[in-house]
Amino acid sequence: MVCPNCSGDYIDGVKVCVACHVLLVEDSSREPVNGNGRLVHFITYFSRHEAAAAKNLLECFDVDAIVSMDEIRGVRLWVHKEDAHKAVKIFQENTLAKKKREKIH
Ligand SMILES: [Zn+2]
Repeated sequence: MVCPNCSGDYIDGVKVCVACHVLLVEDSSREPVNGNGRLVHFITYFSRHEAAAAKNLLECFDVDAIVSMDEIRGVRLWVHKEDAHKAVKIFQENTLAKKKREKIH
């Protein structure tokens, strides 16, 4: 999925661009390609620190993550297309675990 406004790439299942709040359109040809395969835009952060923390989390689960910096688009985290669903799951589970811990204390 791609944002028609900023050309940001998103994984399947994401419907709205987090930066522009516009509906995404399907355009698989616009995904960037690196040596290891196709990358999909996973998430956008406002700080390098947050992106680095997310990258570390993914790498704990053997998911390669790439951080790109762009003055207009922010700090973007990319994952390989085949890892995208795994990455989403890791993030969901991590967020849930965090919430559970917060409830206890
Ligand atoms: Zn956008």
